[in-house]
Amino acid sequence: MTVHIVGCGLAGLAAAVQAVGRGRSVRLYEAAGQAGGRCRSFFDPVLGRTIDNGNHLLLSGNRSARRFVETIGSAGELVGPDRARFDFLRLADGRRWSLDLGRGMLPLWLLGARHRVPRTIARDYFALVQLMLARPHQTVADIVPDDHPLYDALIVPMTIAILNAAPTEGAAVLLGAVLRETFLRGGGACRPLVARRSLDAALVEPALDWLGGRAVRPQFNRRLRGLEFARGRLAALAFAEGTVAIGPDDAVVLAVPPAAAGEIVPDLVVPTETRAILNAHFRVDGMAAPPPGPVGVIGSLAEWIFVRGDVVSTTTSAADAGMDEDAGALAGRLWQDAARVLGRAGPVPPWRIIKERRATYAQTPSQQPLRPQPWTAWPNLFLAGDWIAGPLPATIEGAIRSGDRAAELACGVEGSDPAAR
Ligand SMILES: Cc1cc2nc3c(=O)[nH]c(=O)nc-3n(C[C@H](O)[C@H](O)[C@H](O)COP(=O)(O)OP(=O)(O)OC[C@H]3O[C@@H](n4cnc5c(N)ncnc54)[C@H](O)[C@@H]3O)c2cc1C
Repeated sequence: MTVHIVGCGLAGLAAAVQAVGRGRSVRLYEAAGQAGGRCRSFFDPVLGRTIDNGNHLLLSGNRSARRFVETIGSAGELVGPDRARFDFLRLADGRRWSLDLGRGMLPLWLLGARHRVPRTIARDYFALVQLMLARPHQTVADIVPDDHPLYDALIVPMTIAILNAAPTEGAAVLLGAVLRETFLRGGGACRPLVARRSLDAALVEPALDWLGGRAVRPQFNRRLRGLEFARGRLAALAFAEGTVAIGPDDAVVLAVPPAAAGEIVPDLVVPTETRAILNAHFRVDGMAAPPPGPVGVIGSLAEWIFVRGDVVSTTTSAADAGMDEDAGALAGRLWQDAARVLGRAGPVPPWRIIKERRATYAQTPSQQPLRPQPWTAWPNLFLAGDWIAGPLPATIEGAIRSGDRAAELACGVEGSDPAAR
């Protein structure tokens, strides 16, 4: 039995690793010339450095992602401070503070004012528990309104980082699911983790090496155009270069973004709206003492600042409004914010702006019902990706968990029979 996997983003790679681990033969197809999808790295000649398409933040409680890197042997490529500490700066008044959830299971940090957001009391954090109890129709701001003491300083930066949406539109259930897997498990599950060298070195290349060591090598530049069905089953994959027959015992995992899946799979309902993410990278000489982790910036275009070696990067989420703005103008504005955080002066250093127009589907309550289940009307066709139905938002963790699940279904692991669900 062969599992054919279309799409070499993290969902497709996780599905491949999972299926190979279950002893299946795997064939991988990818439309682009490289793997990684929305989580990829490349060498930038202007900066003279390998950079990521966007800063990606994981949390130590992302159990599927951590199991994935352990399996492929790259756990050491995800690094971060040894405690769940997040530094913030509010540009309007220059105030800096740290939210420090410590290392332990018990939320003892709530008892110390210097571990909390300024001018908040322990009781304010009950809002996070309320988010864990959210209902499907609620936005984050329905539960934590904008006059709440935590709103500007925590709810906004957390929501945009996790949901790529403002609290006024982001689906509270998705944020609640992440809080259950991290905040509820204590500081040990909330440590920020980033790729030490690059996303590619942490998540993509080791997966390809692991698969290659088991004789699985993706076929790049292979764009799936359509599917052929016979006798109620998927019978062939139609690529521009020709068709690939699907054997009677074979299964297919389609791990492509929603728009592509919607075009390929007949009558598939998919999320229709997307949200953008804007990233800037600057090559900065003489970076003496970088902050220990990402820094949240309140009240600015740059929402999070990351430093890796001599590359300073900014992230702006739900950035659809900035997609048509001139890249040079954006670089100037974003560098101003980054320079304030890092206490630097001087002209804009060499920069690179990356606009990801369809970074994620729009994670709003109205788009949630459009996320399809991983199984389809055909018993040998399954779906994977960060947009497939599940408790988690469109993140690395969501993509990997979805890939794992689709592979289990494709391998006929217990619970995959639609009749039994
Ligand atoms: C700028 C940015 C910042 C982000 N920040 C974070 C973060 O901080 N933390 C976090 O957890 N997540 C973050 N994310 C989200 C995360 O990157 C995604 O959730 C994850 O990478 C999605 O993986 P996927 O495999 O589901 O989809 P994709 O990565 O989109 O993979 C789909 C693959 O299918 C291929 N494909 C498409 N059509 C076809 C076809 N017809 N035939 C064959 N192949 C096809 C594509 O080329 C692609 O390789 C960010 C995303 C972006 C863009």
